[in-house]
Amino acid sequence: MNQVKKIAVIPGDGIGPEIVAEAVKVLRQIEKMFGYTFDFQYVIAGGSAIDQVGNPLPEETLSTCLAADAVLLGAVGGPKWDQNPPELRPEKALLALRKELGLYANLRPVSLIEGLEKRSTLRPDVVEGVDLIVVRELTGGIYFGEKQRNQSEQGEFASDLLIYYDYEIERIVRLSFEMAMKRRKFLTSVDKANVLESSRLWRSVVERVAKDYPEVTVEHMLVDNCAMQIVRQPAHFDVVVTENMFGDILSDEAAVITGSIGLLPSASLGEGQMALYEPIHGSAPDIAGKGIANPSATILSTAMMMRYSFGDEKAAQAIEEAVKAVIGRGEVTVDLAPAGQQALSTAEFGDRVVEQLVQRK
Ligand code: NAD
Repeated sequence: MNQVKKIAVIPGDGIGPEIVAEAVKVLRQIEKMFGYTFDFQYVIAGGSAIDQVGNPLPEETLSTCLAADAVLLGAVGGPKWDQNPPELRPEKALLALRKELGLYANLRPVSLIEGLEKRSTLRPDVVEGVDLIVVRELTGGIYFGEKQRNQSEQGEFASDLLIYYDYEIERIVRLSFEMAMKRRKFLTSVDKANVLESSRLWRSVVERVAKDYPEVTVEHMLVDNCAMQIVRQPAHFDVVVTENMFGDILSDEAAVITGSIGLLPSASLGEGQMALYEPIHGSAPDIAGKGIANPSATILSTAMMMRYSFGDEKAAQAIEEAVKAVIGRGEVTVDLAPAGQQALSTAEFGDRVVEQLVQRK
């Protein structure tokens, strides 16, 4: 019997609707191949929701997401809303959604697709074999600590409080160990324990949790060194876990390894199976409406959905292999096409991925 899954779909702004349409196309094929019935529930958020109802995250969107098994998001934002006051900014929708859904872990896998070695900003021999995942803590740390801006005798000052509770560290560290167990059993915990007390707490929690996972090799790395090693020897890493701000920076750094921002998926996980899946890139207003955006990152985000929300590794791999096969044949969108080569449109690329899946059947 088919498994019924409710998927809240937020196309969003800019290229969001174009790339999400291709991801849904691929999921429709997965339905047929792997015995699912997907109930897609389209809702609005971001700039388009501000325009339509004056609220970046309408109540109906939130309740639909809360009642869904997973959320698929395109991207939100664009120059049209850049001058809006803080409560009417598109990104408010994302922050509120993460908070309301209790999504504390952001996962960004980075692996090199065969055939794209030359697209990387790093030398082909350096990027060969890269297959890592950055796990970033998403709801704590300096971004959420108390903020102050005031005058004192020494002049104007500002401060941001960096605070972590051990339970916040433990849940993300445990999730990372679990992930490492399913991969190459190698965990790098990144901190700044030589300077920060919060990092010393982080490190002691990692040491404590490590006792429950004797098969996993753990290394502690200072964040400045990690920033260097990611470009020096990226293939060294398997699972990299770190706090919010370090993760924000390191995951963007790791992203350039693959050659195009249009290739990188992400998942934001919480306590339950419920999670949010989205490409790491934004709404790309410069190419919106042209039908040329690369939908790979969004399609690959649905592979993460199959893996982490529905526990279906086979379906996840089928999607990943199909995307890799199409790109490996040189059938790519304009961001990856060599000069002078005819590129595929967004929809054509989605069609090729579906055709590849059909052949596999
Ligand atoms: P961006 O990621 O949208 O675009 C950066 C560059 O990459 C652009 O040249 C764009 O054309 C290109 N690009 C991005 N995705 C692509 C794809 N799938 N295929 C081909 N090329 C692609 O970043 P930006 O320009 O800094 O931001 C644009 C808007 O997106 C802003 O309003 C920003 O706030 C928002 N944003 C949203 C999210 C999100 O929804 N999660 C994330 C980042 C930025």
